Amino acid sequence: MDKKKELKIELITPERVLLDSTITFATVPSGSGPIGVLPGHAPLLGTLFGGVLMVRDVSGKEFNVFVRRGFFMISHSGIKIVTQAAEIDDQIDLNRATAAKDRANKILASNDAAMDMKRAREALTRAETRIKIGQAIGKSH
Ligand code: ATP
Repeated sequence: MDKKKELKIELITPERVLLDSTITFATVPSGSGPIGVLPGHAPLLGTLFGGVLMVRDVSGKEFNVFVRRGFFMISHSGIKIVTQAAEIDDQIDLNRATAAKDRANKILASNDAAMDMKRAREALTRAETRIKIGQAIGKSH
């Protein structure tokens, strides 16, 4: 690995190691806004905002990863991310995300006091973000 041009990224969820690779650039959705990370970035620990992680691999190809909230750490060895759930763009099941979106919209429209509206809004945002990432495959590269 050429440490001037490349860095490591590791992304783990309770279910799996989603990424364990050498890359050239990533945009991390931190709690205080997106952070562009190149090799040699200053060490940093922060919260991960649910959204889109963009990765550029060693061949220059870019892909997006959906991430839920979590934590990230940038160190001399690269980027480490821990989150509850994550999927690479081509792993996103658009039918599942559309069903989740419809479910959340129904709850939000119901005005049912027994329903947790905050939870429904969060589910809606997750579903919409997954759909956006899943539909964008191939358009950005
Ligand atoms: P759903 O209501 O469809 O379960 P969710 O937002 O509640 O959606 P999560 O709790 O974020 O789901 O994720 C649970 C598991 O399902 C994780 O392993 C996650 O990667 C996977 N997952 C959720 N939605 C999708 C999807 N649209 N495509 C592929 N995997 C998904």
